[in-house]
Amino acid sequence: MALLQLSEPGDSPAPHEQRLAVGIDLGTTNSLVATVRHALPECLPNAEGDVILPSVVRFLRDGNTIVGREALAVQAQDPRNTIASVKRLMGRGLQDVDAPMRGRYDLLDAGGGMVRINTVAGPRSPVEVSAEILRRLRERAEASLGDNLVGAVITVPAYFDDAQRQATKDAARLAGLNVLRLLNEPTAAAIAYGLDEAAEGIYAVYDLGGGTFDFSVLRLARGVFEVMATSGDSALGGDDFDDALADWLHRKASGVDLDCSRSRALLAEARRVKEALSSAPVVTARVPLAADGVREVEVHAQDFVTLTQALVDRSLSPVKKALRDAGLGVDDIQAVVMVGGATRMPHVRSAVAKLFGRQPHTDIDPDKVVAIGAAIQANVLAGNRRPGEDWLLLDVIPLSLGLEMMGGLTEKIIPRNSTIPIAKAQDFTTYKDGQSAMAIHVVQGERELVQDCRSLARFELRGIPPMPAGGARIRVTFQVDADGLLSVTAREQTTGVESHVTVKPSYGLSDDEVAQMLKSGFEHAEDDMQARALREQQVEARRLIEATRQALTEDASLLSASEHATLLTEIEHLEALSTTPDHLAIKAGIDALSAATGDFAARRMDKAIREALTGARVDNL
Ligand code: AMP
Repeated sequence: MALLQLSEPGDSPAPHEQRLAVGIDLGTTNSLVATVRHALPECLPNAEGDVILPSVVRFLRDGNTIVGREALAVQAQDPRNTIASVKRLMGRGLQDVDAPMRGRYDLLDAGGGMVRINTVAGPRSPVEVSAEILRRLRERAEASLGDNLVGAVITVPAYFDDAQRQATKDAARLAGLNVLRLLNEPTAAAIAYGLDEAAEGIYAVYDLGGGTFDFSVLRLARGVFEVMATSGDSALGGDDFDDALADWLHRKASGVDLDCSRSRALLAEARRVKEALSSAPVVTARVPLAADGVREVEVHAQDFVTLTQALVDRSLSPVKKALRDAGLGVDDIQAVVMVGGATRMPHVRSAVAKLFGRQPHTDIDPDKVVAIGAAIQANVLAGNRRPGEDWLLLDVIPLSLGLEMMGGLTEKIIPRNSTIPIAKAQDFTTYKDGQSAMAIHVVQGERELVQDCRSLARFELRGIPPMPAGGARIRVTFQVDADGLLSVTAREQTTGVESHVTVKPSYGLSDDEVAQMLKSGFEHAEDDMQARALREQQVEARRLIEATRQALTEDASLLSASEHATLLTEIEHLEALSTTPDHLAIKAGIDALSAATGDFAARRMDKAIREALTGARVDNL
């Protein structure tokens, strides 16, 4: 395992030499850009003074785009061309897109595991839509900082897989940004609170946004951050609290059917009331009625708590699960960081405080905390490092990465939860005499059989010099970079022929799917061991049968007719056994055929030596 150094330690440059870099929180609902100026992190506002850019892009017929608050304002009028929550489509194939997103937009299957969104300006990829958001943030940064911008750190959810990370990087490049690195959102939040300044500790990050909930456990050891576990609920967020309150207000006020625009107005009012209740004991809601009337309903904080406590409790089960997965108790957690606008709700804070037995960190604005942490990291990577600030940030890969072996078995090269960046190599060899090519199939997952894992990439190593089976040495190296992108290299050691693939998996996995794959790995551990043992014996049986048949074709003359017949019978016997599910019986058949061919092998060896010696002079030997 090799850890890659991200940048050289150095002294803090003089202010006039400071190289400016930004941190970008590219969020599902909102995005922000921040930087460190005069040693202080700050979010950069647009000309109107807003730091939050709604992650909404409207495409116009002439190809121009409107991004942010203005696009959000017209979303209802032009829903098909006004794209929100595009982060949910990044690195995803059509079959992976959730039902609400499918219903909302005209999505096309773009092939290669990608989607396109049909708009009046033509089909647009999620990468292009995200690039529009990033471009506005870059322009905002340049307007504030001039052209000294050396690059950006962009945050992604800890569970983002290769495809989603790659899509985010592509979007940044398209927006003209130099990506210093991608950083996990919870890690950024921990940095914002300066948790990296401690020597070590285990920290939890509870992130409840508008539409999603993410929970992560981080370990800081020897100045290095590592994500130990992640969990969450991709369909839980502040919007669910709005829905619950809107339903309640509707029942209280009228109960009549609402038309579409009034229900949207009611939702907006519910959201306003919810947000106001975070700092007021009672708020008056103005519920829109038919014929443009409104009815006032008083909402007490306690009503709202009663209505939504179940949602808060729902967030606690992934929390407990992540702790269990990481083998931790709540007492092992040194501090909890709150991220996301919905963590402003007092009953969310108190539920978290009660579970962990300590008050969570809430001082930094929960909407800005990720961008601020990213800015601090960007500042370090741009070379503005203070003495002593020499940490690297490590993340983990959520599922094991490996190769397909003979018989459809997986060989894990990098086990899950390995911290990245990481590189690991393993040597393999050829299966057949004279084999000149090797098919390399890269897979991801915890199961023993390839058919139960996810296929990431296939490539071939060609030009292996002819050698007997088992003679070639092929070193396969897996390397996962600091952004979680995998590249695989296969190299034949004697000739140096090499083949390489950078894995951009054709489509992504959601956190739920990762959890499902892990769960299925645990559930099937016993069956998988049996299946593996069976496949191994079947492969060995096939290899032995092929080698024996080959030997019989080449050297039948070394055997009597009855010996020849015995070997054929043993071969047939083993062939029959290898179709059964009994790996012990196959093993016994292999042993029997090996024993039966022992004499034959010795005679072949003698013959080979005789042939080699024929005509050779003793002093040449
Ligand atoms: P985020 O995705 O992190 O921007 O969070 C957005 C969510 O936070 C939305 O559901 C907002 O209504 C919610 N939110 C923002 N401010 C407050 C507040 N003061 N009280 C409760 N929820 C809030």
